[in-house]
Amino acid sequence: MVRITPSRIEYLAHGLNFASFCTSSCVYCYMNRFRRVNLGRGKPVDEDLEELARQLETFTPKGDIMMSTSNDPFTAGYSLANRILSLVVSKLDDLRSRAGADFNLRVLSKKGVWRNPITREPLPNHSLLLFGQTVTTLNDSVRQVLEPGAAPVDGRIEALRQARQAGFRVWLSVEPVFEGMDLLRLCELVEPEEVWVGKLNHYSSQFALPPEEIHRQVEEARASGFVVREKRELREALKIEEERKLVGLETYLVEAGAQCRS
Ligand code: SF4
Repeated sequence: MVRITPSRIEYLAHGLNFASFCTSSCVYCYMNRFRRVNLGRGKPVDEDLEELARQLETFTPKGDIMMSTSNDPFTAGYSLANRILSLVVSKLDDLRSRAGADFNLRVLSKKGVWRNPITREPLPNHSLLLFGQTVTTLNDSVRQVLEPGAAPVDGRIEALRQARQAGFRVWLSVEPVFEGMDLLRLCELVEPEEVWVGKLNHYSSQFALPPEEIHRQVEEARASGFVVREKRELREALKIEEERKLVGLETYLVEAGAQCRS
């Protein structure tokens, strides 16, 4: 059954997941090890929305909700994602009243989809909805190696641009950060309301940028007026520079223990 559950991602309070697989097939995905262990257990896709509908009648958000945190929301097709999002969006005013404050319903994907591929009808919108894409590099050759089942980089950028032009609030998740990233250029192309830049990733360290370079790009984008937030792990990595230099960058990246969220 589909339910909103607690999330430990630092900018979220809740996650909304409904698939035990993800067709983006990112080689660095932190869920890969759990999927291997749980292979064959449970339903691959949960389409039972009755529990979610019941939950939404009394649920009080404690902060942002994200669809999704352990699978791409479009991994089981546009139709199911649209049904789930439509249900939550229909209850957002009630949720805001109960919470007594604004929060964001974040959508985060790598599929470059923001409207029905056949009818071209956009996803449901609301003032609390933040439509986002993860972009980890602007180099699509790097993307093909690391995220073979996800949309090309250009497709994600174009989805964000079109959604923004159609009136959606848009955001970017930049995590992990790989070779070929130019954060300022990405921000200029998308004009996001907010960007979260994430921690290093230790499964693909040969492609990962060093924390100082990530931070330099963050500062450059901020200097141009973009709202860019660094996740805790990246901030902490920058504080232990001496230790990292002693063990060497490659070893440090492996031992840093960073993981990706969507
Ligand atoms: S990192 Fe996200 S998009 Fe990629 S496979 Fe994992 S859940 Fe899917």
